[in-house]
Order: sequence, then structure tokens, then C-alpha cells
Amino acid sequence: MHDFKYKNNKLFCEKVEVTKLARQYGTPLYVYSYSTLISHYLKLKEAFKEVNPLICYSVKANSNLSILKALVDKGAGLDIVSGGELFRAIKAGCPANRIVYASVGKTDGEIRVSIKRGILFFNAESLAELDNINRIAKIFGKTTNVTIRINPDVEPKTHKFITTGKITNKFGIDFETAAKIFAERKKFGNLRICGIHIHIGSQITETAPYVAAVLKVTDFIKRLKGQNINLECFNIGGGLGIIYDKENAQTAEKFAKEVLPLLKKTGLKIIIEPGRFIAGNAGILVAKALYIKSTPSKKFVIVDAGMNDLIRPALYEAYHQLLPLEQVKSREKEVADVVGPICESSDYFAKERLIPEVNAGEYLAVMGAGAYGFSMASNYNSRRRPAEVLVKGNKAFLIRKRESFLHLIENENLINL
Ligand code: PLP
Repeated sequence: MHDFKYKNNKLFCEKVEVTKLARQYGTPLYVYSYSTLISHYLKLKEAFKEVNPLICYSVKANSNLSILKALVDKGAGLDIVSGGELFRAIKAGCPANRIVYASVGKTDGEIRVSIKRGILFFNAESLAELDNINRIAKIFGKTTNVTIRINPDVEPKTHKFITTGKITNKFGIDFETAAKIFAERKKFGNLRICGIHIHIGSQITETAPYVAAVLKVTDFIKRLKGQNINLECFNIGGGLGIIYDKENAQTAEKFAKEVLPLLKKTGLKIIIEPGRFIAGNAGILVAKALYIKSTPSKKFVIVDAGMNDLIRPALYEAYHQLLPLEQVKSREKEVADVVGPICESSDYFAKERLIPEVNAGEYLAVMGAGAYGFSMASNYNSRRRPAEVLVKGNKAFLIRKRESFLHLIENENLINL
């Protein structure tokens, strides 16, 4: 499932020893495996080949330009949610007609530039937004493609912060309002309302919620057909879960086996927007143990990476496997908290975890950090965001250098008051 493996007790990313990268580029350091990234993309493409889907990798998962380019070069499109992501998509060389744009809060400026660029379509999330896209397209004298993001009201059985397809969530439009929009679509003179989009949540490890959502949508498509409203595309979103711990995550094949027959019946162009499934297990965060601290109640391994570098444990109590870069088989195991240097008690990578004893100066890999890792990183505590390295075979490429102290203050004005 990924290309981070021990050889002679040393952790390798493909053919490169990770400790060498940690020494060369310093820590904290993100390390990505090209072969893992691309193989996940290809697995999904292969599993769904009967409908020849456009796979629009979700930029938010990991938006490094080299990651985007690697996928775009293999034929992927991109799913964006902001003007900044559109800028990245274009810089990475993604043809505009492979870009789809979701977000409940697209600004006029973001809509303008997307229309000018000629993106494949907007996934519209409210009536007010449809009116606005129509108004702006009219100013340009253009007709713009739009799909309606439907909120299918299903329970995806994932963390509540990453559930997006329940009717109480801010995302998408309910079926009845959507039916009205389709019936009155001629009102929007500068829009081609040509499809349906759903995205029910993230890190979903079961197929049943997808099947439930897709079934609701296919019924809706039939209902529209009965009214002579024929669609062109169905974007089923992303959300496929991966294995962080002991999840029984679905494979691309299992997912396709259940969902594909339903999709085939629609006869529509299928779009899929995976982020985590492609990038999650393709990356690790490497940290160095700074201090070992024993208190009357606990042992702490204090590392040089923090919640500003990888916020998932602090935000979702997410689990990440921790591995030493060098395995010493004779090491005793001990229960410890692995924590960062930040002034928050939520700044941790493991809590009361049984791990092989760690000494100060040794390196640890936080596994499964390729998605929602760097892209959610911040400068909190005035920490510089880490460097990122992409490994392909026996070569390692610095795809983002570590930020400098100057970067921390470059947009600030020092005012004498
Ligand atoms: N599509 C949309 C609209 C999203 O909001 C997201 C994530 O939030 C994704 C795709 C990607 O989700 P995931 O990384 O779980 O595949």
C-alpha cells in the first residue's frame, strides 16, 4: 500500500534511506513517495475503467506544485476550493477543462477568474451562488458549466468534523430545492446546469454510505429524466478512507464493485474527487526526539515537529502510526506520550502509546501524513513550515524548502505608534 519499508532495519522511501534525508534537509521534514502517489491514482483509474472517469485529485489534501504536476501529467484533473488552489492548478500545468470548483463561499473575484480561465465546471452549493455565477458570466458574455452539489442527507460514519453530506451540514442543496432549480434552469441564461455533484465526507471506510447516496441521486436523475431534463455528468466526490491504524478500509476494487453498477446505469460522465486516498499514505512527517521527560505519572518523548506541522491529532484526535527510522530490535517497549514543542496540550502525535524506547537525537516517522499534513500546516508559535521532499526511485527532490525566519514577517509592517 505504500513504499516506506525497512531494509536492514533502516526505513527507506522507495530506494532512499530516510535518515539521510533527515540529516540533509533537517527536521521536521515531509517525505513523499512518487510511486505510492501515482499507484493510488492508477488503482482508482483501473477500478473504474469501465466508465472512464475523470479523476480530479482534491488539491486541498496536498497542494504542493510538484505533487499536482505529477498527477496532472498522468492525466488527472484537479478539484479546487479557492482562488489560491486555482492559481496552483494553473501553475502546475493543469488544463482548465480538467478543473472542477466546489466551495460554499466562492467570491466574485474567484468566480470571475474561473470563468475567464474556462474551468470544466463549478459545483454550485446554493441558489444565491447560482444567481451570482450567472450574473458574473453574463457580464463576460459567457455561458458557464455548473453542476448542482446535492446534500443527499446520509450518515457517512466518520468524524463529525469531516462529515459533509448530512442535511445539517452547510454543504450542498437539498433534493427538493435542486428539483426546482433544474425545472427552472432556463432562468439562468448564462449557465449550463449539466450535472450533479455529491461529496458526503472524508475518511469513509465503508461503501454503504456511498451506495446510499448514489442510489438517492440515481433516483433523482430518473425523476429529472421523466421531466425531460437530461444531465451530462455525475461527480461522486471524494472521501475514500485509508488505513491509518487498524481500519478495514475499502480498496478501490471493492468500492468500484459496489458503486460502479449504479454509475453505469446513469450513462453519465463520471467524475471522482479523491484526495486522501491518493496522497495520504504517500507521505510521512519525520521528526527528531529532542528530550525524554519522565514525570511522576508519565513519560514524554518531546519531538521537534508540532501541531503546526501536522494538526490532525489535535483537530480530530486522529491516529498516526509512529515508526523509528532505525529499528533496534533489542529495544524494550514503553508507554509514552509523543508530543511537540507547542504551547498547547493538544500538541501530540501519540498518547499513552506502547512504542519501542526512544532516545534523544533519534528520528521518528509519523506515517500516513501525506494528506491534510503540510496543506493544513501553519506558522503557529512563529514556527517555520517544514521542507518537503519527493522521492522517485533512488532520487530525492526538494519540492519545498523550509521557510525562513524572514518569511514569518515578510508581510508585516513595523509601525511606530
Ligand atoms: N471533494 C470535496 C468537495 C471535498 O470537500 C473534499 C474534502 O473535503 C474532497 C473532494 C476530498 O476528500 P478526500 O480527501 O477525503 O478524498
